[in-house]
Amino acid sequence: MSFYEAVDPLFASYVLGNAPVKKLATGFDWVEGPVWFGDANCLLFSDIPNNRIMRWTPGEGLTTYRNPSNYSNGHTRDQQGRLISCEHGTRRVTRTEWDGTVTVIADQFEGKRLNSPNDVVVRSDGSIWFTDPHYGITSNYEGHQSEEELPCNVYRVDSTDLSITADVTDMGCPNGLAFSPDESLLYLADTGRVDDPGAKKGMRVYDVDGNATSGGRAFHTINPGASDGFRLDTDGNIWSSAADGVHCISPSGDLLGKILVPELVSNVCFGGRSKHVLFITATTSLYSIALRRQGVQHP
Ligand code: MG
Repeated sequence: MSFYEAVDPLFASYVLGNAPVKKLATGFDWVEGPVWFGDANCLLFSDIPNNRIMRWTPGEGLTTYRNPSNYSNGHTRDQQGRLISCEHGTRRVTRTEWDGTVTVIADQFEGKRLNSPNDVVVRSDGSIWFTDPHYGITSNYEGHQSEEELPCNVYRVDSTDLSITADVTDMGCPNGLAFSPDESLLYLADTGRVDDPGAKKGMRVYDVDGNATSGGRAFHTINPGASDGFRLDTDGNIWSSAADGVHCISPSGDLLGKILVPELVSNVCFGGRSKHVLFITATTSLYSIALRRQGVQHP
């Protein structure tokens, strides 16, 4: 049985015939938020219900990076290579400095507490963009059950003065996000409120002009599953989580193919020596696959 499924024949050229999907580690409850540290040759990812960030190192395996992690979820790195983390438990976004101290990047907007920051990207101007759905406060599983004080917005934080702006305010529950390679487009996934079973879900794409976002047109709806998290390759293809693996979506919104993974996928990131390895967080396990693709990295 093949480890991939080509919907468009082009997809067969994206995979390597002899590079399988590998299970790197397992035994978690719900993993998400992978981020690659090339200079340290390791991957960090969140095991959210167990309140910890794990570190996987090629050839060495698994260690714990941070416990407790304040139920951290999505991660990225800024221009200085520092770890930026979304934390459900403390309802904030933080930056881990090189000396290990933690700086709060955002924990409120207009005097009200954020919900539970979920996923985060840094643009090449240093601004930090993150989604703030309510998933981390709707139960005690991935954080602390609590009331919402704000709508589920997408925010941007200025890297110099840490001022915060609500950039996208018309989504039900924004989750994964990523910029196109030239940063002219922002892809955002709406995975729907838990108290609204009929919520409209799917990926949308916004035009970005400076700090202004507009448009928000429907782009692609992952099926089966949801676009919880995704990353782009250097040609602008979107590699998104799905229930049956990782789906590769073209810049025009068409499904090109799938990497088949035996567990429901939450998120992905590119890493490895040439950013040619796709790391996949999927329910209880961490997987990887080497591709004939390269991930785009911002900044
Ligand atoms: Mg997410």
